[in-house]
Amino acid sequence: MSDILLKNILVDEVPKDIEISGGLIESVMPAGSPHTGTASQTMDCSGMAAIPGFYNMHTHAAMSLMRGVGEEQDSLSSWLQEVWKVEARLDPEFCYHASRVACLEMIKTGTTTFNDMYFHPETTVRAALEAGIRPAVCYCVLDLNDEEKAAREKDGTEKAYELLKDAGGIFCASIHSIYTVSEKMILWTSDFARKHSLKFHIHLCETRAEVEDCKKAHGGLTPVEYLDSLGVLDQNVIAAHSLWLSDTDVEILGRRHVTCVHNVNSNAKLSSGFRFRFNELRDAGVNICFGTDGCASSNNLDMLETVKTSLLFQRAWRGGKDSMTPSEALAAVTSNGAKALGINAGRIEKGAVADISIVNLGSSFFLSNAPVLSNLVWSAHSDSIDSVIASGRFVMRHRKVEGEEEILSLARRQLEKIRV
Ligand SMILES: [Zn+2]
Repeated sequence: MSDILLKNILVDEVPKDIEISGGLIESVMPAGSPHTGTASQTMDCSGMAAIPGFYNMHTHAAMSLMRGVGEEQDSLSSWLQEVWKVEARLDPEFCYHASRVACLEMIKTGTTTFNDMYFHPETTVRAALEAGIRPAVCYCVLDLNDEEKAAREKDGTEKAYELLKDAGGIFCASIHSIYTVSEKMILWTSDFARKHSLKFHIHLCETRAEVEDCKKAHGGLTPVEYLDSLGVLDQNVIAAHSLWLSDTDVEILGRRHVTCVHNVNSNAKLSSGFRFRFNELRDAGVNICFGTDGCASSNNLDMLETVKTSLLFQRAWRGGKDSMTPSEALAAVTSNGAKALGINAGRIEKGAVADISIVNLGSSFFLSNAPVLSNLVWSAHSDSIDSVIASGRFVMRHRKVEGEEEILSLARRQLEKIRV
C-alpha cells in the first residue's frame, strides 16, 4: 500500500500516475496503469502538472520580518549598516517566528528545501521541521579580524554542530565573506568542514568593491584566486552570488567543482549588478543554483519569480545570444540544488525523494498551446502551485497550509522588537 497516489498528473507533458511511499517516489507510470494496492490518500490531478519542489539555495530565512529595512539604501555597504542595527536586537524567539513565516512563504511558493545562513540556526531548523520542509543551516563565522571574536566563532561553530548535526536538517560550515572574516578563520572553518564532511556556505564576489578591495589587500588576487590560494575551494563549497567573476575565476570555480548560487533580485535591488556569467560558469562545469537571499533585499522567497527575473536579465544583457533556457533555469532550482546538498531528489523519478509541487493549469496563464514549462516560467505566478508534497507528505493542499493564521499572528507580535 502506498501513502499517496497522484492520478492523471502531467509529468513533462505526459499524463502519469505517481505513487509515493515511505517518503520516496515509488513509481511513475502512464496514467490509468493498474496499481499494486490501495493508497491511503488519492488525489485526482486532472488539469494539473507535477514539478519537483524548489531549492532556494541562499536564504536568510529569519529576515522575513525585516522587509523594508534599509530599503532607501541602494548599495550593499550602506544597506548592511542599516541591517546590522536591526540585527543587534534579534533574539531566538524572533528568529523562530520569523523562520516560521519564511517556511510558510516557501511552501506557498513551492520550495521544499532551503540553504540558510543566519543567527540562531536551531530556531530555523525547528521551524522548518515543524512545517515539514528540509532546512540546511549553518553557524556563520564573522570575526572582523578580531582574535577574541574568532575564539567565540570557533566555539559557536562547534556548539552549533554538536546541537544540529543529528537534528533532522543539514548542517553546513560557513563564513560570512572574505571581507568580514580573517584568513585564519577562513582556514579553520574550511578544515572544520572537511573534518566533518560538511558543505561550506559563503558569500562570494557579490560586489565590484569586494573584488577591488580584495585585490588591494591580497597582492592583486581576486576573491576566488585568494580562496583558491588558501586551498579551500572544492565541490563542497556553495558560493552565494558569484557575480563579479573574471575568466580565470570562472575557470577555477569549474576546476574545483564549486556550486555558485545566483541571487538575481537581491543583486539588482542592492545595485550590485546583474551580469551573472551563467553560460561561462555552466560551460566550465560549475553547478549553478538560484536563491532569493533574505527578504530585506529580495523582499520575498518566491523561486518562480527568481526564475523569471533570471531569464529576463540573461536575455537582456546577452542580447539574445545563447541565453539561459527555461529548462536550464528549472534545473538550477531543482536538480542542481539537490546535487549541491547531496540529496537524491529534484526529479520526478522512481526512487527519488518525493518533493513535488502540483501546479494547477486551470488559470489563464496556461490557456495556450505552449508547453506547461514555458507557461509556468514566463506567464504564471506561484499561486498556480495548488499543493506541495515534501519528503512524501502533503505540506500544502489546495493552497491551505496548516496553522497559517496562527503563524502570521504570532510573528506579528515580534515586529515590535525591531522597530527603530
Ligand atoms: Zn546573503
